[in-house]
Amino acid sequence: MLFTQTFIPTLREVPADALIVSHRLMFRAGMLRKLANGLFAYLPLGLRSFRKVEAIVREEMDAIGALEIKPTVVVPGELWKESGRWETMGEAMLRVKNRLGGDFVVSPTAEEAVTSLVRDELASYRQLPLRLYQINTKYRDEVRPRYGVMRSREFVMKDAYSYHTDASSLDETYTAMGAAYRRIFTRCGLSVIPVRADSGAMGGSDSEEFMVESAIGDNTLILCHTCDYAANVEKAACKPDGTEASPTDIPALEPIHTPEVKTIEQLCAFLKTDAQRFIKTLIYRASNVALDLSGAPGSGGLEKRKSSPDAPEVYPEAFFAVAIRGDLGVNEVKLAAVLKASEVSLAADHEVVRLTGAPVGFAGPVGLRTIPLIADLSVTAIPEGVTGALVADTHYAHVVYGRDFVPWLTADLRTVVSGDRCACCGGELYEKKGNELGHIFKLGYKYTRSMQVRYLDEKGQAHIPLMGTYGIGLDRTLASVIEEHHDEAGIIWPMSVAPYQVIIIPITYGGTVKAAADTLSAALETRGIEVLLDDRNERAGVKFKDADLLGIPYRVVVGDKHLAREVPAVEVKRRGEASVRLVEAATAADELSRLVYRELGR
Ligand code: ATP
Ligand code: MG
Repeated sequence: MLFTQTFIPTLREVPADALIVSHRLMFRAGMLRKLANGLFAYLPLGLRSFRKVEAIVREEMDAIGALEIKPTVVVPGELWKESGRWETMGEAMLRVKNRLGGDFVVSPTAEEAVTSLVRDELASYRQLPLRLYQINTKYRDEVRPRYGVMRSREFVMKDAYSYHTDASSLDETYTAMGAAYRRIFTRCGLSVIPVRADSGAMGGSDSEEFMVESAIGDNTLILCHTCDYAANVEKAACKPDGTEASPTDIPALEPIHTPEVKTIEQLCAFLKTDAQRFIKTLIYRASNVALDLSGAPGSGGLEKRKSSPDAPEVYPEAFFAVAIRGDLGVNEVKLAAVLKASEVSLAADHEVVRLTGAPVGFAGPVGLRTIPLIADLSVTAIPEGVTGALVADTHYAHVVYGRDFVPWLTADLRTVVSGDRCACCGGELYEKKGNELGHIFKLGYKYTRSMQVRYLDEKGQAHIPLMGTYGIGLDRTLASVIEEHHDEAGIIWPMSVAPYQVIIIPITYGGTVKAAADTLSAALETRGIEVLLDDRNERAGVKFKDADLLGIPYRVVVGDKHLAREVPAVEVKRRGEASVRLVEAATAADELSRLVYRELGR
């Protein structure tokens, strides 16, 4: 391909809103342009690399026997109403109406669409397991699209869905998908960290996310210095410190006057002690709680409802008190998982006042009877604590877990931080920031039940199949390759996803140089190599700079000086390496194609 015949508008300037390397380089190298906030167009060079990522993903999906389909991007809103996500997806889902007023959704993901297809076709256990995938456009109306295609509104996802008769079959596909994902990322030249992830409110069990380390990562990963424990902080557990306290000789509960002392810091200062002695009590509001609350404090009047005939009953709204050691934070994802809730958030001040009967800042576990109390495990190890007393300007001292209060439930709710101890080996945990490239997830019956999918077993009995879901963001994967492979001058493509494999730079495109460059280009193309020939009427320096920016793995410089040698030669340089080699012009095509194929592992 001649440079002047394609469309690679390189830039010297960095776009003002490009805050990360991949965003800057994709723009500067003429791969990408912005149409609007969160909406990007791939130009020819960018699309070439994108297609390579896509091909790798497709090959690995096909290799594990997943079957490609092409559902539509716009899907009926009815399906989302059936699954219950019409209500729960919120603003991220783009809803549109057609001319007849019908509701439609621009797919943010496709559990509903694919499950509806499967429901219509599934009859017998003999059709299972079924593993379907698509590589297709998704739209999410992200609040803050940023970092170019790392977090855009429109993007392409490979999403796969599997359906099974039993857990071991689901397990098998889940494992095969995980292995395929590892191969995909390795082939793209990416170092990923697979981490345990939260598996959501209903039905799910195992879940794994594939992260790349990134200073701008949206995720916090918790890793162990000693063993291979790795988890998203949303899921991470640690070894509880201390054992359950069984104190004796603790004085009786004692109210203390604490005027205007509302925060933990103020209380520490006031009582001249540290936060580890406080039992902090937070009031949470939860939506769509599937946990059975019968018999729990305050649950008497709670309304219950079903989103579909087969769906479990949920409490659309319920409040909870969470007690945790003063220096620790509550992990809301863990709390939502314990409650089997679609969402949890701190209650508003007026709700706190109504439920605790005290101003904000004086909630406590002792005597709280309006809502269920859930205690983090850390609370069970505080021998003698201080808490709010449910009365203005008052705290209790000498509070003993089990003596002065008994929670309705105890659970692991703390946010793990650096320095906590590993639950597996006791080693020290540390944090890293990461970006999620892929996610595999055992869903259980969540969608197959709410959408009433059935198959018949050998005896003609109807059953609901188990389901798994598996996604990779292609754009984010491509951007991450650039994040991992670049230098000051530009991109350094791994051969597997390079837009071209060889760039030929004639010092000036004319005469014998042109003839030699054209011959080499044709010879490489005959050998199946993808070549970009920089035929622009530009100074050599400009072409060299652009070649570095574009990051094409092999650069060949063709010039009079070396062609005039006794044995005519060209200069070959691997992008990212300093050394330049002279290669005989006559054998350069063979030599280069050998190098390229070796890097491709062929
Ligand atoms: P995130 O937490 O980053 O918003 P997610 O957990 O919502 O992602 P999934 O629903 O698991 O994402 O989607 C699967 C994959 O799709 C992600 O791992 C990511 O690679 C990609 N993806 C999701 N949202 C975006 C986006 N806004 N822009 C680009 N890729 C995205
Ligand atoms: Mg995810």
